[in-house]
Amino acid sequence: MPDIIQLLPDNIANQIAAGEVIQRPASAVKELLENAVDAGADEIKLIVNDAGKALVQVIDNGKGMSETDARMAFERHATSKIKNIDDLFRIKTMGFRGEALASIAAVAQVELRTKRAEDETGIYLEIENSFVKMQEPVAATTGTSISMKNLFFNVPARRNFLKSNAAELRHIVDEFIRVSMAFPEIFFSFTSNGQEVFHLEKGSLKQRIVQILGNSYNAKLVSVQEQTDYLNISGFVGKPETAKKTRGDQYLFVNNRFIKSAYLNHAVMNAFNEMIAKDSYPMYALFIDLDPAQLDINVHPTKQEIKFEDEKIVYAFVQSAVKHALAQFSVSPTLDFELDASIQHLDAVSKPLSEERRSSTTSSPLFQTFTQKNQAHFIEKKSDLRHWKDFYESPGEKSTGDIAIQKDSSIGSNAVLHKDTDTDQPLLQLHQAYILVQDEKGFLVIQQQNAHERILYERYMQAVAGKPMATQQSLFPVTIDLAAADAVLLNELIPDLQQLGYQLEPFGNNTFVIQGTPADVESGNEKAALEKMIEQYKHFSNDIKFSKREKLIRSLAMQHAVKEGKVLSQKEMQTLVTSLFVCEVPNVTANGKPTYMSFKKDELDKMFGR
Ligand code: ADP
Ligand code: MG
Repeated sequence: MPDIIQLLPDNIANQIAAGEVIQRPASAVKELLENAVDAGADEIKLIVNDAGKALVQVIDNGKGMSETDARMAFERHATSKIKNIDDLFRIKTMGFRGEALASIAAVAQVELRTKRAEDETGIYLEIENSFVKMQEPVAATTGTSISMKNLFFNVPARRNFLKSNAAELRHIVDEFIRVSMAFPEIFFSFTSNGQEVFHLEKGSLKQRIVQILGNSYNAKLVSVQEQTDYLNISGFVGKPETAKKTRGDQYLFVNNRFIKSAYLNHAVMNAFNEMIAKDSYPMYALFIDLDPAQLDINVHPTKQEIKFEDEKIVYAFVQSAVKHALAQFSVSPTLDFELDASIQHLDAVSKPLSEERRSSTTSSPLFQTFTQKNQAHFIEKKSDLRHWKDFYESPGEKSTGDIAIQKDSSIGSNAVLHKDTDTDQPLLQLHQAYILVQDEKGFLVIQQQNAHERILYERYMQAVAGKPMATQQSLFPVTIDLAAADAVLLNELIPDLQQLGYQLEPFGNNTFVIQGTPADVESGNEKAALEKMIEQYKHFSNDIKFSKREKLIRSLAMQHAVKEGKVLSQKEMQTLVTSLFVCEVPNVTANGKPTYMSFKKDELDKMFGR
């Protein structure tokens, strides 16, 4: 019997390998555009005929290739981008595997024209089925033009596998957008069957996004910009009102490479939280930059997935950066005309997203960004607090005082609604949901439920930090039966719940005995209160950014807050309002919803032409 194993000829091996890199015309578009970017071009033109089935051509004004390099470029594993395995951890270019040109040359007819700046003449090459058919010197401008003709002419099975022109063109457009969006400093054009479809002048990222996605996004983009030692994030998200019913305009880039990540997408969606309808999708174009060593580069580059060394940090970071951006945008109407001069000139307010801030924060550690995320609110709060106090302070009289109210935080949460305040300013409740308050410069509209949530949140925070809340002993201890998973969860929460005024003990078999609850839980409601709290808690449970305690407190605050629809007495409203403005962060709930809006008389006057 003869031996039967043979080495495959190069062209066959290349054809097989090409299957992984070049699946359709759009794959070639991606590879050729990325090569042009890597070559340092600042002008890149894409030309396709018949949805790329007949022709994909990319012309760039990059650094070009020498004669030898031009030949070498089409060999498998030929790359100028890495030399050894360590380089993989520093990779900054789009490509590095040296597979793209070899693959394209194995499954199409290729024409290359290239010239370096330092060479008199350029070089012209024709390659088909991995074989060089022609090579000659040619007059050329600096840069490279590669044409890929008749894709899969030699692999009919795969050619038949291609979809309709409309579908293939759609894939090409997607790839074109993904590359051109990441490099707004490069001019791109895209011509299909002789018609120029895109003409993207160099400009800012914002201009590029509007050029690509359409004018409807003009003035509807919120800048996202956070810098830390570990990673940077920049880009834009669409204002909530631009959210669409289809998941279309969502772009995530890591080190300028487009990626798909359901996990990080979730982080962005989470940041929008309740600002958009459940089944709608916000626009975003976000760029994460981090040390390539923090990425697992062994994931194949044509796959759009990516592995981070520490995915959770990236998640938390993305979510927080987007939240921060949205919060800044939502308070900006007040910031624009309301703050007094001494505050207005602070960089954090006047130029929250400037280049200066960008560079000055580059050295800050990751979590600093998190703690700073309410920076703008803090400043706004101070000014509003000042007005608020002025409003309470009748001439010659001292303020009713934040301190007094703060001290009361150890009595049950609902106590806030019964505490006396000694203002005679009448407050107005509208639609059993809003409280209208006149202040020095205009008026505030307070959302009662959101406001109370904020108050309770801060009160509970103090409670778990060491100022336990009072417990009201249940007359008849109540037992509560839970599903096994919920029982595990509740068990873990018992110590914190105790600080918050709940007294309960495990009783075996997923049963607990409730012996006491915070003062504001009506007797008979103990069980329902706990069950609701667990439900709410589970709602937060995929929010990995929060600790158990944070989730618990948010759940309780949401659940115990007075709801919309509750009629409030004057006293209750006054206590609510006063308690709100002694909060650390009075203007948003922990989940980022506004607690009040302020309207300036000046502005009203303007509107009415006074
Ligand atoms: P990779 O990009 O992974 O290195 P490719 O097969 O895409 O592999 O390209 C091989 C090499 O050819 C590149 O490393 C680069 O040196 C050279 N090359 C490819 N396209 C261009 C271009 N447009 N301009 C200059 N050099 C290029
Ligand atoms: Mg490449």
